[in-house]
Amino acid sequence: MKITRISVFQKDLDLSHPYFLSGGRLKFERIDSTFVKIETDEDIHGWGEGCPWGVTYLPAHGKGIRAVIDEIGPLLLGLDPRQSNHIDRTMDLALPGHLYGKAALDIACWDIRAKAAGLPVVDVLGGRYGEPTPIASSISTDTPEGMLAEIDHYRAMGYHVHSAKVGADVDMDIKRIRHLAENEKPGELIFYDVNRAWLPAEAIQVMNATADLPIMFEQPCETLDQCSTVRARTTQPISIDERLETFEDILRIQNNRIAEVVNIKLNRVGGLTKAVRLRDFCLNSGIKMLTMDTGGTVLADTVVQHFVQSIPREFRLGTWLCHDLLNNEAEVAPGQGSRNHNGVAVAPDLPGIGVEPEVALLGEPVAVYT
Ligand code: MG
Repeated sequence: MKITRISVFQKDLDLSHPYFLSGGRLKFERIDSTFVKIETDEDIHGWGEGCPWGVTYLPAHGKGIRAVIDEIGPLLLGLDPRQSNHIDRTMDLALPGHLYGKAALDIACWDIRAKAAGLPVVDVLGGRYGEPTPIASSISTDTPEGMLAEIDHYRAMGYHVHSAKVGADVDMDIKRIRHLAENEKPGELIFYDVNRAWLPAEAIQVMNATADLPIMFEQPCETLDQCSTVRARTTQPISIDERLETFEDILRIQNNRIAEVVNIKLNRVGGLTKAVRLRDFCLNSGIKMLTMDTGGTVLADTVVQHFVQSIPREFRLGTWLCHDLLNNEAEVAPGQGSRNHNGVAVAPDLPGIGVEPEVALLGEPVAVYT
């Protein structure tokens, strides 16, 4: 089987409401998503999506994805898309780094590989652990009362895992955390995502002031070194999100005992081929995983559900459905893919990803390579 054509589509996705994180310093209203369709000489095609969370969240942006594809896409023509490691190495040799720009191509190849095998992607990733995955809400930074009201909104949709975005001043963050913890319902998990906003001194203050609570903090500070300082002087579990990109990062996180949990985002780590390596390292090292994407439509969200269901339940903390935050015009595959079912999601039991975007909803391709 050979890759014969790569088509690239672009779509702006509007959020239903403005969204704030990192203590309110970062605001998001629209995200730029790139869709890739890879066709082959055997009448099987695959889809991938790459969607950074705006341009301020990570060193990643939509135009950057399309520039990476313009650089390396033509080099994939003629290769067998089922040979994931070969595809991955070809991309890395042609353009070191820029992992987020490669993810959509890698994922489209996995879609083809699974379709060719007649299996859902999760089965090609090693097999499905049957339990559905709890979906984490994403609670924008706000007053304590405003954040609880937002959690109530998600409770009504069945959610029982919540990622509450904190990271402003120390006193206000302690108030937020205490208020949400006091109002936590039985069976719920609320974790506190700082999105790099605290300096180590602030992280140590807030975490020690709430040390009586059985809670977890995500990405308290900007760098792994700063998080390591915090780890040494606090007790609650820490999750690393933004600063886990490469395999070298996970080695450092484990060797320096920086975190007990990591958040694997498929776009950030470069797609499924590289995510599988991180997953297997975490399984062997006893590291729990949150698994999601940086953004995107039901296509990106569904790819994640295949990946997350390849992780045993006890290692799996939760996932996220970005498309629940988008307005109706962002829909690209009506009625398809992994959706919220009373707070949990499952990967479709269909060959490949199981999502076929409607091309009319994507518009004309912005680039085609043949
Ligand atoms: Mg996070």
